[in-house]
Amino acid sequence: MNKDLLERYGGAVPRYTSYPTAPHFEAGVTPETYRRWLGQITGDDALSLYFHVPFCASMCWYCGCHTKVVKRYQPIGDYAELLRREVSLVAHEIKGTPSVINVHWGGGTPSMLSEKDFSELMDAIRKHFQFSDDAEVAVEIDPRTMTNNMAGAMAKAGVTRASLGVQDFNLHVQQAINRIQPFEVTENAVARLRRAGVSAINFDLMYGLPGQTVDDVIRTAELAALLSPDRLSVFGYAHVPWMKSHQKMIDEDQLPDGPERMAQAQAAATRLNELGFLSIGLDHFARPDDALVRALDGGRLNRNFQGYTTDQANVLLGFGASAIGSLGPGYVQNAAPMGDYSRAVVAGKLPIVRGIALTPDDKLRRAVIEQLMCGMSVDLDETAAHFGASEKFQSELNTLGLMAWDGLVEIKDRRIHITPEGRPWMRTIAAVFDRYLETGEARHSRAV
Ligand code: SF4
Repeated sequence: MNKDLLERYGGAVPRYTSYPTAPHFEAGVTPETYRRWLGQITGDDALSLYFHVPFCASMCWYCGCHTKVVKRYQPIGDYAELLRREVSLVAHEIKGTPSVINVHWGGGTPSMLSEKDFSELMDAIRKHFQFSDDAEVAVEIDPRTMTNNMAGAMAKAGVTRASLGVQDFNLHVQQAINRIQPFEVTENAVARLRRAGVSAINFDLMYGLPGQTVDDVIRTAELAALLSPDRLSVFGYAHVPWMKSHQKMIDEDQLPDGPERMAQAQAAATRLNELGFLSIGLDHFARPDDALVRALDGGRLNRNFQGYTTDQANVLLGFGASAIGSLGPGYVQNAAPMGDYSRAVVAGKLPIVRGIALTPDDKLRRAVIEQLMCGMSVDLDETAAHFGASEKFQSELNTLGLMAWDGLVEIKDRRIHITPEGRPWMRTIAAVFDRYLETGEARHSRAV
């Protein structure tokens, strides 16, 4: 492990699930802006729909999501009604009949919705939007609360993929993050989903958790592989207690330092590769026959707010408190506080509170960053030409020249290729092209 690299490149950088990143969204993008952008959607567009369900049964200390713990069902039921209304409000503004090719339920814990509410919501969505025959419908699942009935309801409603939160299978780590989830719980949830007909299974694992060691990460990867998931993600824990106050419950003395985090990330990748999963981008792994691998090979791998995806939709519509949408002209975000979101929807208003209209330079830099984060290479001249831009990226190339000395990238004829040694530093390499990085109040998590 090269400590010099950590010192030089281990600073805080965004995850680049969007560009510009969410901290740079501004209040100038209003419901009226969104209405206008929705009106520009045509029948030729392909839609991806994201539904945010900001409720959980208990709080995991590492959580970085927008969610809250509820003990009664009523707030969840009320929220389901708000989602129904928002779907109707948004659909009303779209004039053409674009096809939905992807639906993602995230949170929070979407599986906290009752079977009835989930099924009725899917019916309402299908009533307002036209689905393509092979649309993927994915749901994030908390294995601890997954029942046979819910698995059946999801399969019946057309769910094709389940993404299960696992993080680490070792009890001492689970205790340190307030998420006790024995292996059998995950095993049973997978069996229930598969029996019901939800055959595509993803696992979310983590490194950098309190008390976690390289051995823990390897054991977790091995146990996860026993359940034959199609895809896994291995995210680094982002300790941002200034943004997520429950993370203050984590004992900072127990957190692995930079070199240990790096060793854990590399150990997870090595073991998963040995177990037959191919590396995808920064932190995803997939079986060789998975669509994610085919997308990578075919240059069609994309990155959105959920990470790496085969989703080819050019428009993402976000529903629910805090949800983000991505349309041709820019990004929009719904109000995060439940009261604000609810008041807007009940009043028949689109609950947008901020966003950003993309400049031509934003679109060019987003394309460069996405190519680096997905395919690990970019041809700067070709990309600039595609956008009709004369940008030469000279200062960026100078910075990358130093990274080339460190073996993280190769540069030839203004084509940049991230080397295997550079893969863990992908976010830092992409950040070279981020015009917003030095501006604003944003504080990000560490690069590795
Ligand atoms: S279940 Fe997921 S969303 Fe809910 S608190 Fe835990 S990590 Fe956060």
